Parts: sequence; C-alpha cells; structure tokens
Amino acid sequence: SPRWATAHKFPAEQAFTTVENIEIQVGRTGALTPVARLTPITVGGVVVTNATLHNADYIEGIGNNGERIRPEDHDIRIGDTVIVQRAGDVIPQVLDVLLEKRPAEAVKYAFPEKCPVCGSHAVRERNEKTGKLDSVTRCTGGFVCRAQAVEHLKHFVSRNAFDIEGLGTKQIDFFFESDDPSLSIKTAPDIFTLKVRQEASHLTKLENIDGFGKVSVKKLFDAIDARREIDLHRLIFALGIRHVGETTAKLLARSYGTYEHFEEAMKAAADPASDAWAELNSIDGIGEVVARAIVEFYKEPRNLDVIDRLVRELQPKEAEKPSTEGSPVAGKTVVFTGSLEKFTRDEAKARAESLGAKVAGSVSKKTDILVAGPGAGSKLAKAAELGVQTMDEDEWLALIGG
Ligand SMILES: [Zn+2]
Repeated sequence: SPRWATAHKFPAEQAFTTVENIEIQVGRTGALTPVARLTPITVGGVVVTNATLHNADYIEGIGNNGERIRPEDHDIRIGDTVIVQRAGDVIPQVLDVLLEKRPAEAVKYAFPEKCPVCGSHAVRERNEKTGKLDSVTRCTGGFVCRAQAVEHLKHFVSRNAFDIEGLGTKQIDFFFESDDPSLSIKTAPDIFTLKVRQEASHLTKLENIDGFGKVSVKKLFDAIDARREIDLHRLIFALGIRHVGETTAKLLARSYGTYEHFEEAMKAAADPASDAWAELNSIDGIGEVVARAIVEFYKEPRNLDVIDRLVRELQPKEAEKPSTEGSPVAGKTVVFTGSLEKFTRDEAKARAESLGAKVAGSVSKKTDILVAGPGAGSKLAKAAELGVQTMDEDEWLALIGG
C-alpha cells in the first residue's frame, strides 16, 4: 500500500573500501569541509567514490557534542580501510576504520591551517555560550577567497551596504564570470576601477553587450561614482566580516569615527594584551566572538591588500561621534520604563546615547537614572529599593536640555 511505501525506510547499506586521499572543499561561507576520496566501491547498487568527513573532529572520531563516536585510535587516515555507509540519498559516510588493515606508514591526518583555495589562515571559532571550539574550521580570507568571492560581492553591493543601483546579483554574476580584464569584477575594488578599465579598452565595450546599453552603462558608472563617498558604517558592514551585521557596524563606526582609526585599532587589537583589544571588547553590544572575528579578519594580509586597494578608491565619511562634552548624562547608565509620550523608546535611546549615556534594559546597582513614564511597574519599585534617582519624561528632557 502507498502508506507502507512512505513509512518504509531503506536499510543503510555498508561496504569496505580504502581512503585514497583526503581533500578539503571550501564552501561559500568559508567552511573547510574534508572529503574522503575512496577507491570506487558499489554500495547498494551505486558507485561511491567520495564520502564527507564533516570536520576535523569527525576525522579524529569526535562527534558534534564533543563525544567520542569511534575509539581513540580509530582516527581516519589516508591509506586506511574504512566502512562506508550509504542510507537513501544521504551523502555516504565513513563509519569506522579497520585498524588491522592500517598500513604501517599511515600517519594522522593534519587538518590544514590554511585555506587551500586562497592561502589565508583558517580558524575554529569558540562558541560564545559554551566556550567550546566550534567544529567548523573557517577561512578568514572572506574578502579575497575565490570560494567565497561571489557571495561577498553580492553582500558588498546589497541594500544596507554599498547599494549600487544597476549592480545587482545578476550583474555581479556576469562581471564575476568574465575573465576579460576590461570587464571582470573579482573583488570589491574592481567595481570602482571598471569605468577606467572600460575607457582604456578598445575591444570589449560594455554598451555593446546584451542587457546593457549606452544609457544604462552611463547610469551604472554614475551610480558607482556616487558611492565613493560612503558612510563609515556601510563600508564596515560591506566588508562582510563574520558576525558583523548592520547594528555592529554602526556601533563600530560610532566608536572609532574614521576608517583609518578603525583599521589601525583593529590591527593593534590583534595583541590580546593591548589597550585596543580591551577597548574593542568594552564597546556595549560587542562580545568576544565578534571582536575575535574582526581581529582575525584584519590579521590576514590578503584581506588588507584588497582593503587598501578599495579604500584608495573611496572617501569614507567620518561617523558622527557623540559629543559628550558638557553633557549632564555622559557616562551615566539610564533605564527607560513605562510609556513615553514625546518620543518612541528607540528615539529616546538614540538621544541618550548621543549624549554619551549608556542605556540599559534593566535596573541594577549600576543604574544612575530611571526615566519612568505612566504605567511603570516593577522597575520603578526596584529603583526605589536601590535608591536610584527616578524622574519622569519632562524632568529628563529638562535635564538633557529639551
Ligand atoms: Zn579561502
């Protein structure tokens, strides 16, 4: 019956074969995935030549939660005879190693410390909550790595990054695939040299290519030029640094002010004993995982090369730094509660931050001021208990000067 058919699970099929090589594939997000090249073997009627090894831990015999999935000496080595399993359409897996068949010369597999595609250093991140090493090893050369380049370019031109009109994902694919030196865009700075390269070329004119025309080419070049002057937070976001989203990019822009200052500080922060590292970590909203990702990005000379070429084409704007001089609330921790009538909560928060105050979500001993609107409840009680200064919206506005 059809019911039986859907409920029926194919039994997993297994076979023995040897691992001829272990190769590393780099995904579009920079993850390094080891793949076993196998002596071809028929498993369940299908010829299997590859099996995924998932990550460095899996090769060692350690599962996703840090638990042993194979005995300690059953690490997977080149030359090993292994049990391969294929279940349904799932990618074949290496289940175990036959130690009695291990060649004398087989050595422990050394997981690469560099990306095989671009040569940038590869790292395992630490999980923010558990503190454990992440199972995935990732290439840090996101900006230059061919395996990640197209995705990075698409991110670079996306709406909250450079947002270049006429340069969407379709056009990026086209320019990226081209190997014509007057047309190709492989990394972000190439976007800004396209016009010059086009003007110098007598052979390939963009306006003669299907999908472009004289008018749209001019529009494209104008749109690119218009973006040379770019908001600092857009530039930082566009770099595609792991874990650096729009909000984080804004925090960084506000904290460092100019691109030069930001880059200098991120390079200096590579030394964990430096003031720069401490300063980066002290920014409210930036945790250690994020801080580490930024430092790793700036530690990679391949990224710096591209960034140098990029910044040369741009005039990044200076971020508005909160002027806290003479501000009555600079350095104070403020909590808003209850309903506000003259501002939205976000506006009130932005205003307070622009005056150098820290806005917290809950009342604690560290709170300096509680601004309580109608309907304030437990926070008001807590503030009274802790002796925190409390005021209403009008008193707050009077304090900060309207
Ligand atoms: Zn790479």
